[in-house]
Amino acid sequence: MSSTQRPVIRHTGWREQTAVLHGDSGLSTDAAVVAPIHYSATFRADTPEQFAQMATTPRSAGFYTRYGNPVNKRVEAILAELEGTETALLTGSGMGAISTTILALVSAGDHVIAQKRHYMSTSKLFAEVLPRYGVEVSFFDQTDLHELETLIRPNTRLVMLETPVNPTLTITDLRGVAALAQAHGILTLADNTFASPLNQTPHALGIDIVLHSATKYLGGHSDIMAGAICCSTVLAEKIWAMHVTLGAVLSPMDAWLLLRGLRTLSLRVERINSNALALATWLEQHPDIEAVFYPGLPSHPQHALACQQMSGFGAVIAYSIRGGYAATSRFISALQLATHAVSLGGVETLVVHTAAMWSGSMDEAQMQAAGIEPNFVRMSVGVEHLEDLKADLAQALKALKT
Ligand SMILES: *Cc1c(COP(=O)(O)O)cnc(C)c1O
Repeated sequence: MSSTQRPVIRHTGWREQTAVLHGDSGLSTDAAVVAPIHYSATFRADTPEQFAQMATTPRSAGFYTRYGNPVNKRVEAILAELEGTETALLTGSGMGAISTTILALVSAGDHVIAQKRHYMSTSKLFAEVLPRYGVEVSFFDQTDLHELETLIRPNTRLVMLETPVNPTLTITDLRGVAALAQAHGILTLADNTFASPLNQTPHALGIDIVLHSATKYLGGHSDIMAGAICCSTVLAEKIWAMHVTLGAVLSPMDAWLLLRGLRTLSLRVERINSNALALATWLEQHPDIEAVFYPGLPSHPQHALACQQMSGFGAVIAYSIRGGYAATSRFISALQLATHAVSLGGVETLVVHTAAMWSGSMDEAQMQAAGIEPNFVRMSVGVEHLEDLKADLAQALKALKT
């Protein structure tokens, strides 16, 4: 595996392992070593002048919690450090981050471009919601920059990206799209959830706004829903104005849990990266596995690009089981350690039978178009011991023979 140095500019100068622990230390409000939870919806002013100032300062940390909150600010400081952006803004979920950002930036008559494949709710936002508000939407094959270029119009406002993306961990050339969009004065947004800021920092490659479902790696324990928007101060203030109106706010309690989760982010991602690469390599040589899709494998069609823009390849491995839908179903039922549940980036290993997950909401033709084969498994590798995970997969594959 070759990795590139990412020119991330951290305000503190600390490396990511240190930034997750101390990136918020300047915002400490008292002598407590651990951040207090400011569980208050509203904050007192000492004078009428101070009240007027609190009420009119954008992103004030102490006025009314929909506008901002001290513990949320601490998390935002760390996320901005990790993504190398001027600032960050927390939201109550990943979809809250994505929908708030896009609704803040587009108006009727604008044109936007998104990938043909995105997280399902993001696809719905572009395909079903935006057109209802008079926004024109085009979709491009994320591996085809030429197609993207042909779709650009004078009223194109933004390009939405997500990499790696389901179902086969396809990669988008972030640097290539950023250069093209910049040449046309178009904003670029990247959902960086699948990579995490430890494996990929899109802003360093020229992307304007980096979005996260903090429900995944950043929280890391599958216990909270949260989202984040990382960008310049100017853009954040614009998005924040819409955020205050739409109200997808993260509760201070959940922000505190997110802060607690972030403290171990670098340790978790390191282990997840090494476990996932080892399991992907092991699965690829197993006779009962048809194919493995993981950007860290040399067999991934965009492995070279992945190595250029990622420093690690993350938790998610997609693979297909020999024997079709029925065998895949049996395989998942036979797993004893890996838990059968959606989501990713948490400490525990999770698996889903992709086709089963979508069988209620997509017909076969739609699934085909989305690239979902009946025998696909999506696995988010956790921090368990590698040999225990291998043994679990081995026994479940062996159970298919009996
Ligand atoms: C989970 C996820 C989202 C949505 O985040 P929520 O926190 O569930 O709202 C968006 N994008 C990607 C890539 C995700 O994995």
